Amino acid sequence: MENSSVRVRFAPSPTGPLHIGGVRTALYNYLFAKKNGGSFILRIEDTDQNRFVPGAEAYIVEAFNWCGIEFDEGVTKGGEYGPYRQSDRKDMYREYADLLIQSGNAYYAFDTPEELNDIRKQLEAEKKIFTYDAVQRTHLKNSLTLSPSEVKNLLHAGTPYVIRFKMPTDQVIVMEDEIRGRVEVNTSVLDDKIIFKSDGMPTYHLANVVDDHLMKISHVIRGEEWLPSLPLHVSLYDAFGWDKPKFAHLPLLLKPDGKGKLSKRDGDRLGFPVFPLQWTDPESGEVSRGYREDGYFPEAFINMMALLGWNPGDEREFFSLAGLVEAFSIEKVGKSGSRFDQEKAKWFNHHYLVEKSNDELAGLFLDVLKEKNIDPGQKNLSYIVGLVKERVNFVAELWEQSSFFFEVPAVYDPQTVKKRWKTDSFEHMKELEVVLKQVQDFSSENTEKVVKAWIEEKEYGMGAIMNAFRLLIVGEAKGPHLFDIIEVIGKEDTLARINRGVEILGKKEAN
Ligand code: GLU
Repeated sequence: MENSSVRVRFAPSPTGPLHIGGVRTALYNYLFAKKNGGSFILRIEDTDQNRFVPGAEAYIVEAFNWCGIEFDEGVTKGGEYGPYRQSDRKDMYREYADLLIQSGNAYYAFDTPEELNDIRKQLEAEKKIFTYDAVQRTHLKNSLTLSPSEVKNLLHAGTPYVIRFKMPTDQVIVMEDEIRGRVEVNTSVLDDKIIFKSDGMPTYHLANVVDDHLMKISHVIRGEEWLPSLPLHVSLYDAFGWDKPKFAHLPLLLKPDGKGKLSKRDGDRLGFPVFPLQWTDPESGEVSRGYREDGYFPEAFINMMALLGWNPGDEREFFSLAGLVEAFSIEKVGKSGSRFDQEKAKWFNHHYLVEKSNDELAGLFLDVLKEKNIDPGQKNLSYIVGLVKERVNFVAELWEQSSFFFEVPAVYDPQTVKKRWKTDSFEHMKELEVVLKQVQDFSSENTEKVVKAWIEEKEYGMGAIMNAFRLLIVGEAKGPHLFDIIEVIGKEDTLARINRGVEILGKKEAN
């Protein structure tokens, strides 16, 4: 039901793996589009050939597939406003650069990088900063200072040039941002940005504005790092005489301590992924971890990301993607940056893990077991998973909490032995073995009833017996209800574990 005029886009540059900040930008665009019955477009901004990284575009597409964020138009979908990859639109941009030259809003600049560098150095020596601006452009080598015939000759001779936007002199640019409100800036602090490069490609600024216009983008929702480009973009719209889209600049994702933007290095340092999927750098071979490979469920990842910068205005924290569409509004996006919180991320995963049916989890857990070459045999994995799932955040952690269902403990944890293997434990456990040997119905309820009756009759301490018993079955002081465990492993294995443990641990000398 894409019937409204709301059209938004996510416009990543394929310069490497997509940072989670980018995923959040895309998510907010998606939510805004769906909430308003609009369209969501994926446009690949690959005009910077130097920064192009093979595999990055495929990574971006795969990341959104994993998250469940769907595009209505774009590189993988096609659509009426394509092509959606800027390198495939290359020829179009030149026309628009020419239009700006004709209208006096842009000019050719022939200064070589060396010449500009010399001027930069000269000014630095005078403790000044060089910017190609309204003041400097009047004595540099460009079509504003050269005569029309000189320009013609240079162009004719194939002299390399760039096209720069001619920033209006001393004007106040007024910008409206949906999140920040009104922002004003005087053009005297802005430079004449390159809009078309000597390699025949537009820069980000020109291509981005032209495409937003041609693709009828109604709202530009993007990261705060693009706010400094807004005056130029607004000026470009004005120079073309085009209606502007609405703009919304999203707050930054911050490091866990709130000091600065979340970077890949923070993730490496503090042990969490900053990318949705694992990424192997095609040049260095360096592998960066991803949420998917770390065992996060996409629904947990999305839920966590949504709340980094937006809130529903009430106490609710758990949202499906559809629920987010329902609840989302730009007004509730905060102005200040959001700190990334790794514990919260895990907590969301725990929530979605517990919510999954035991059957579904059992299927996922079976893959973990297969990797470990563990054959669960006739054991009811759904039941086992149900017993331990409250204790874990990730499917892979189920093994730690349930290995004793599948394997006889290889070692007895020394700390537990020290605390829980008492002087009487040897005799008690031998006696317990005899008691259990006689039990026919090995259901959890029945063994519990029999064992407890025996303990009461003998007036043994419940805690002491149960602790020693758990040590022999599990190998340490952990795990769910012990009678549930022995029901799963069965009579034979239970007796064998008691027997083996008693032999290995032996009689503890009284001290
Ligand atoms: N290509 C830019 C990026 O990589 C897009 C910024 C925008 O949305 O305008 O983030």
